[in-house]
This record gives sequence, C-alpha cells and structure tokens, in this order.
Amino acid sequence: MASKGITILGASGSIGVSTLDVLARHPERFHVFAVTANSNVDKLFEQCVRFQPRYAVMVDLLAAGLLEQRLQAVGSEVVVLGGAEALNMVASSPDTDYVMAAIVGAAGLVPTLAAARAGKRVMLANKEALVMSGQLFIDAVREHGAELLPIDSEHNAVFQCLPTNGNNGVEKILLTASGGPFRLWPASALQSITPEQAVAHPNWSMGQKISVDSATLMNKGLEVIEACWLFGLPAERVEVVVHPQSTIHSMVSYNDGSVLAQLGNPDMRTPIAYALGWPERLTSGVAPLDLFATARLDFEQPDKERFPCLQLAYDAHVRGGYATIALNAANEVAVKAFLGREIGFTDIPVLVKDVMHQASTGTPMNLEEILIQDEESRLRSLSWIKNKKIH
Ligand code: NAD
Ligand code: MG
Repeated sequence: MASKGITILGASGSIGVSTLDVLARHPERFHVFAVTANSNVDKLFEQCVRFQPRYAVMVDLLAAGLLEQRLQAVGSEVVVLGGAEALNMVASSPDTDYVMAAIVGAAGLVPTLAAARAGKRVMLANKEALVMSGQLFIDAVREHGAELLPIDSEHNAVFQCLPTNGNNGVEKILLTASGGPFRLWPASALQSITPEQAVAHPNWSMGQKISVDSATLMNKGLEVIEACWLFGLPAERVEVVVHPQSTIHSMVSYNDGSVLAQLGNPDMRTPIAYALGWPERLTSGVAPLDLFATARLDFEQPDKERFPCLQLAYDAHVRGGYATIALNAANEVAVKAFLGREIGFTDIPVLVKDVMHQASTGTPMNLEEILIQDEESRLRSLSWIKNKKIH
C-alpha cells in the first residue's frame, strides 16, 4: 500500500500533537506532508526536525520568518510558508491524502472547507467549522467525493456504533458529557470561577478554549449541532447524557431496544487512530480499558439551568445557520474575554444569548455570507463587553 500523505492543520495543539504521536507508530503507512500552527515556533521547529514534512505553515508572518531561520541553520529542507492563504494550499494539495482539521475555532473553517472541496479524507476535530457551515460543508463533502471522519470522541464513538447501511433503525444518538469541573457546584458559586479553575478538566487534557467550553457545557451544545450535521438527524433525536467517568464516549439507541456504546480510556489517540486507519484498525498507544478499575458508570440529566449554553445551542440550531454562526462567534469572543479576566464565567451565556438572538433566522447560502455573519457577531460581542465594563 502506498504511504498516505498527511496535512495537520493545528499541529502545535493538543490534537495535533496526539496525531503525530499516532503517525509515528505507523511510519510505513503514513508520511507527514505539512504541519501548520498559528505562531508556536518552538513546537513546529521540533516537529519539522523529527517528521521532515514538505511544508510548515505559520499564520503569523513574523513566526514564519523565525522558523525558517532556525530550520535553515540546521540544514533542514522543510519549506516554510507564512499567512492564512498557505493553509488552503497545504489542505488541498494533490500531494496530501488526508487532512487533520485541528485548528481551534472559526479560523479553521476556510482551510477545512478547502480540504473537503479537494476531495480529501477530512478528519474533523474542528467542530466550530461544521457548526458555522452546516449544510454547505456536508454538500461540499458529497459533491467532491471527500470522506468525513469525526475526531471528536463522542462523534467518533457514534460513527463506530452506527449501522453501515444509513440510519436504519436508529432512534436516537446519546451524546455523553463529563459535566465538566463544576458539575456539582451550586449556582451561587459559578460567578466567581477563575480561568485556572475552568481549564482544569477532570478527565481530558485539551486546549484552553475547548476546556472552558466543557466547563460551560457549550462544548456539548456545539457537539449536538455537530452530530445533527454529521449524522443527518434533527436535534430532538440527539440527547445529552451526563456521564462523569467519560468511559462511554457516546451511544446509539435503536428501535429494537438495543443501545450500542463505545468505551475506552479518555485519550484522543483512539479516535485519531480510528480515522487514520478506517475501515481498518490501527494501534494507537492507548492503554487497554481496565473495567475493574472503572467499577462504576453513572448517568445524570444535564442541568440546563446552571449551564444555559447547552439549551442555547439547541435553540440556535432550530433557528438556523445565521444563529449558529452567531452562537459560535459570540462564544469564541466571550471565552477569550473570560480567559483575559474581562468578564465572568456566568457572563458567557448571557453574552452568547444576546448576540445569538440578534442574528436573523434562515441560513447563509455561501462562504462569504457565513464570514460576514461571523464578523458582525464578533463586533456585537466586543461592544457587549465594552458596555458591560462601562456600566
Ligand atoms: P489547541 O488550542 O491545543 O490547538 C489549537 C491549534 O490551532 C494550534 O495548533 C494553533 O496554532 C492553531 N490555531 C489557533 N488559532 C489559529 C489561527 N487563527 N489560525 C491558524 N491556526 C490557529 O486546541 P485543541 O484542544 O487541539 O483543539 C483543536 C480543535 O479540536 C478544536 O476545534 C477543539 O474543539 C477540537 N477538539 C479537541 C479535543 C481535545 O481533546 N483537545 C477533543 C475534541 C475536539
Ligand atoms: Mg468531544
């Protein structure tokens, strides 16, 4: 079998690093075609020396210059490119077969869509891209013969539990949620949560933005929307189940009473290896699950009162594409402001709700309209924060 070329968008992040860890276990099957990052020179330098990709892309031009100097100094042949445009090139090049979409947030949309339009195997970690583009993305995958494989652990679990012949007999998708670090906290204590407390996830080690999203349950909300698009189901057939151990990564409930679940240790190398190998299985480095050490599997209803972001995401999805873009953009701005100590933890859902409700109903028809709605919602969110500071 010919070696597959891999582009990793967001190689310096948590998912990017886990992807390279799995790839390193299978050098005969895969080679790294390109790695990309926003500005982390040290991480990309180290990856370039070890994996010798053809290209390294830095969105930040200054960082690109620094990386190029350091690689030249050690005689490396890696070609360094700077700027966001270069992401599209490495995502759609004829010399790459698979694209790991692991940029965080809206910044990942354009290159991820470029990979789909070039007919690649798109391994989708960047849920925000799908939340923003919905049907447009799904249509691009179909029209260009791309393969869409979910990396998000819940969606990867569902993918593993679904029948091969469409949605035959599927009643519901049961998305599991850990409940985040504040699952047992009283409502009165949420206001004073610090960024340090919010990024300390109980079960998974992840980037900052998704860690805060897990704490507010916005991550689960985005995942509900992601599941609707990936699996072609209406929101009322996607249910969230809080399962604090994160051992079951999600389930599919069938019309004959069967419920299929995928279990494992909470380590993203499992879904990454599954997407790289599909339809085959590859070793991932993940330790086997010790059921005796796990002992208990608990299940609870999500608390939509203390964590309003989950319901906001359901509401946005029913409202349409403009609303889900606004939801995502407002959330990105709010999380950044929370991490920068400009707003409190409980301000996040209030800001998101305000900005989401200002979006029109309906769905944008093309990428340009999507990006305009994204920009408008960001500006509205920034002025919301400014007003809050004044009052
Ligand atoms: P991270 O913060 O660790 O890494 C983000 C990556 O995106 C970095 O490589 C960074 O350089 C790049 N990036 C950031 N801003 C950019 C910009 N403006 N332009 C180009 N590149 C930019 O994040 P992560 O935890 O690896 O998550 C990445 C994506 O995967 C997110 O969408 C997240 O929701 C999703 N995801 C992550 C996990 C996880 O376990 N970490 C699980 C499921 C889904
Ligand atoms: Mg997830």
